[in-house]
Formats: sequence, structure tokens, C-alpha cells
Amino acid sequence: MVSQPYVYRRAELVEPDWRRFPGWSSVTAEEWESVQWQRAHCVKNLRQLRDLTGPGLGEDFLADLERDQRERATMSMLVPPQMLNTMAPASAPDEPGFTDAFYADPVRRYMIPVFSDRRTDWPSHPYASRDSLHEAEMWAVEGLTHRYPTKVLAEVLPTCPQYCGHCTRMDLVGNPTPIIAKHKFGLPPADRLTAMIEYLRATPGVRDVVVSGGDVANLPWPRLESFVSSLLDIGNIRDIRLATKALMGLPQHWLADQVRSGMERLASKAHERGVSIAIHTHVNAAQSVTPLVARAAQAMLDTGIRDVRNQGVLLAGVNDSAQALLDLCFVLLDEARIMPYYFYMCDMIPGSEHWRLSLAQAQDLQHQIMGYLPGFATPRMICDVPYVGKRWVHQVSRYDTELGISYWTKNYRTSVEASDELALSREYPYYDPIHTLPGPGQAWWRDHEALAAERTAQPAAAG
Ligand code: SF4
Repeated sequence: MVSQPYVYRRAELVEPDWRRFPGWSSVTAEEWESVQWQRAHCVKNLRQLRDLTGPGLGEDFLADLERDQRERATMSMLVPPQMLNTMAPASAPDEPGFTDAFYADPVRRYMIPVFSDRRTDWPSHPYASRDSLHEAEMWAVEGLTHRYPTKVLAEVLPTCPQYCGHCTRMDLVGNPTPIIAKHKFGLPPADRLTAMIEYLRATPGVRDVVVSGGDVANLPWPRLESFVSSLLDIGNIRDIRLATKALMGLPQHWLADQVRSGMERLASKAHERGVSIAIHTHVNAAQSVTPLVARAAQAMLDTGIRDVRNQGVLLAGVNDSAQALLDLCFVLLDEARIMPYYFYMCDMIPGSEHWRLSLAQAQDLQHQIMGYLPGFATPRMICDVPYVGKRWVHQVSRYDTELGISYWTKNYRTSVEASDELALSREYPYYDPIHTLPGPGQAWWRDHEALAAERTAQPAAAG
């Protein structure tokens, strides 16, 4: 037997026993599988978390969480029971060591961040900004980002059933936090969706629509079905991707009768017109893939849609090892028939430095996972470069590893560069987390922090 850096083993899916939490000790399987029950029992604040765990979750943890919410959090707290139940799955609040297990848990680290998780030297990169990908600047109509030549992103709503601490769209998505006021859409929802459809009817060069938000699981089903059905009536639209982390965070939604039958109607209409509909979900840790998640993915595939794919986010302390990434990819592929597709580097939003990896780390992870998964299911590590778009991490044009600045080029104009003659020859920068740099690089940033903060002041406020 040849010794290998990674050893493949099939995983057995487990729904952890939710009755280990005092607040859910008498919750039945029927309640657990009800989407209404799940939505009504989301954990939204410290009091609810304390009520759920009882005294088993230490006061130190709760104080750490409270401080983070007051001083650092860019997203408010919203965790469905389904997701919370996958945190510290082998430990119960009435057992010794529960608080430590909860602290160390990878899902907890990105869904319920605490102050001590964050960097104190560089909590934010000097060039971090709200709307770090400048999506709103590229809105063709409100909420419709036209960044690439043939595809658009439709932000159909600003809410989700769960809020991730590292959310790229922290500018728009979710409730305000003590340090972040959220951008508000101006148009009423129905008018916004109508304007998107009208733009797409009038723009035959677009063939691919990512329907996102937020999370499409929060759009009332009839409105989502009507929107996707209207997209299917536009002859030039050939690919539709529905973005929903809730396939993992709230699989009960995608298992509900109304949603399944509605997806069947959409899949059948898509099939008649030769259009592909896929679901794109967002799973970052293998333990999130439970039997209910696998059932929801299978239910969606059974409706006749083309695929269910995963776009995870590379996060330090969550999945920054080949073992964690390959375990996740294999459990998605083998046990839930979800296709590993992308892992994005965490974007440069405020407060994200403790989650972010350097480009070199992402390149190394890409190298380490090659050769284990089938080629079609080997995810690409992606850097979403501001004003450029998604680039495979090895596509970098130049890389100054001392200052942690990578330079990227592109081969198309975004919608804001119609008359920019240099758009295709310019190099666009991206920045590594400063704490990952060698000493001289860190010293350079300390000297230049004030200058950098001045240069980012304008984009930061523009969100
Ligand atoms: S589900 Fe997606 S859009 Fe919603 S908070 Fe998480 S990362 Fe942001």
C-alpha cells in the first residue's frame, strides 16, 4: 500500500442529536423537519443562545460574542437550528468541555464569530471596503450586476435564512449591526424584478443569470417561480443558477412540497426550452452535510434540474487544509451528489483578516487537492479581484510576496469601463492579509497604513 498525504474514506452522514441542547430536548423529528418550526426557532441573539444551551456554554464565550457584536460584527446573528446543531456535534452542553468544543468548531467560527477570533493587530486590511467587489457600481438596473460580458448577477432580495459572519455582501444583506448600517434598495421588490427582466429582454448578449441575493430561499416561492419563469421566456437566457446556502442551512425549505412541485414546473419548462437550471449552494465544512442536506439535494435533482454545485469560501480555522477541503468535497460528491465547483478566497471586507488566506496559501491548497477527485469535480480556488472578476489563483500576473500584493489582468470590460482604453492592459491589485507577510512587508504596511486608509475612505463610504 502506497502511503499518501490524503487517505480517502467514505463518510457516513449523521444528523447530530438536537436533543442534546436543553432548549430542544423535547423537539420531535416531525418538528425538526418542518421548515416553519426551523424558521421560528432560529437563534438571533445572545439570550436565545443562552436559553438553548443552558449553563453549559460559558459566560466567557457569551461575553466574547457580545463584544464582537458591539465592536466588530458586520453581520447580525441568524442561525437556523439545522446549522446550529452541526456545531460541536460530538459534545453536549451538559458535558465537560462543551465551551471549548464550541469555540473550536469550524462552523461556529464563521457563523457565530467572537471577538477573540479576530486579529487585534490588523482586524481589517487598510484596503478593505464595503461592497469590496464594487457590485453596486456595476448595477445595470437596481440589484442587477453586469460585470462579465455574457452573464449577470441578479440580487433579488437582501435577506437570507442564515447570516454568515464573512458575507461578501455585508453592505446590503441582513440587518444593521452596531457598526454597519446596510444599504437599502430604493425600488419596491416587484418593480426591481420587473426592471431586471426588462433589461435582460433588451440585452441579447447576456445568456447566463445567477439569481442570488441574499438567498433565494427567502423569496416567497410564487415570486421566485414567476421571476425564473420570466427568465425562461427570454430566448437568449440559456443558463440559470439559483444561489442558496439554505440547501445546507435550511434543507427543510427545499424539501417542502410547495418548493419541490414548483421546481418541477420550472425544470420541465427549462427542459422544453433547452435551458439549464442549477442550484449553487455554499458549504464550507464536511460536518454540515447531514442526511437532511443530502435529501434536499436529491429532491432538487429529482425535479429534473441540471445540477447542484457547491461554492465554498476558503476560511482560516474552518477549511484551510487539504484534509478539510477533500473531506468536504468527497462527502458532497459521494453522499449528497453535490458537485464541488469553486472555493473563493474570502473577500476584503472589514473585519475579515482572521478568516483570509494569502494568495500563496490558496495556491498551495489548490496544489494539494489535485489528483484525488475526478477532474470534473476538482474545485478551482478563486480570487475575486475587484474590477476584474473571478480568477483562478494560478492566473496571477505578478506577485510581490513581501508586500502581499498580487497583480491581475483581464480580457473583457466591465460595464463601468466602456470608454476606458486601459481596461484590458492595466494590472489590478489584490492584497494578502498583512499578518501573513514576512517582517519587512508588515513593517512597510505599518508605515503606509495612514496613506492606504485615506485612499480607501471614498470606496468604503460609497456603499
Ligand atoms: S448565505 Fe450568502 S448572502 Fe447570505 S449571509 Fe451567507 S454568504 Fe451572505
